[in-house]
Amino acid sequence: MSILNADLHCHSVISDGTLTPEALAARAKANGVELWSLTDHDEIGGQQRAIAAARQQSLPFLTGTEVSVSFAGKTVHIVGLGFDPDSGLLRDGLARTRGGRDGRAQEMAEQLAKVGIQGAYEGALRFAGNPDLISRTHFARFLVEAGVCQDTPEVFRRYLTEGKPGFVPHRWASLRDAVQWIVQSGGVAVIAHPGRYGFTANEEFALFSEFKSHGGQAVEVVTGSYTSAEYVTYAEMAIEFDLAASRGSDFHSPDESHTDLGALPWLPGHLRPVWDLLTDRVH
Ligand code: AMP
Ligand code: MN
Ligand code: MN
Ligand code: MN
Repeated sequence: MSILNADLHCHSVISDGTLTPEALAARAKANGVELWSLTDHDEIGGQQRAIAAARQQSLPFLTGTEVSVSFAGKTVHIVGLGFDPDSGLLRDGLARTRGGRDGRAQEMAEQLAKVGIQGAYEGALRFAGNPDLISRTHFARFLVEAGVCQDTPEVFRRYLTEGKPGFVPHRWASLRDAVQWIVQSGGVAVIAHPGRYGFTANEEFALFSEFKSHGGQAVEVVTGSYTSAEYVTYAEMAIEFDLAASRGSDFHSPDESHTDLGALPWLPGHLRPVWDLLTDRVH
């Protein structure tokens, strides 16, 4: 069933979104979302709240997370959907994955201080709803508040990315571990927004092949940040690699996200929707 307003990728204050799980559930319902998932970065601490909020809105819900992975010298994101939210394996793996974030944030602030921006660690922390999950997004919000940049896209053009002040390379989870934590917890692993990594064709082929060999089953074909050409490219990749297809806005904030919850093109009708693999996991 492809024609379903599923939105299976967004963030709350438990990671780097600005809305609570309850506010997201209400917004998703108001926007006509028919199947929702909350996919906080490296965290499942918001899942019970999301399950309860979705139930209150009579909104079908799949558990979710977005795991940070290091692959071919870059950071890749693997979404997990429909896992058991009480899985100790996933909880512990994610705790280890986010464990390095505080030290990384302190190094980011040291770099920013060298280019004249003081107090970035404390400043970013004020924006972090979950101090365990301080991310570049929180630094971006601080840099906008401090008047260094006009908006967060400008921050990511001038700072916090490779070769720019405030970028600290980091070792995240391995692809194998991330996929296995999700799969062994009863979920489906999904390659998030593959168009965003800037991989060569060979690197992308390696990512898709290795992901499949570890038990990954789906890819995001429709996501908030794509061009219409990318929808076609990744629909073809889904067919080539025999992967199911997912759809998600990657909504973070009403003030920052250009794609609202549920406001996405439909999944192309010839693809197998990831939710067809998860019918028995819907809350
Ligand atoms: P981190 O996990 O700390 O490396 O932060 C990654 C987060 O930064 C992503 O999940 C996005 O929310 C945000 N981000 C990364 N690149 C950009 C960009 N070019 N524009 C806006 N947000 C970005
Ligand atoms: Mn984010
Ligand atoms: Mn992502
Ligand atoms: Mn995301």
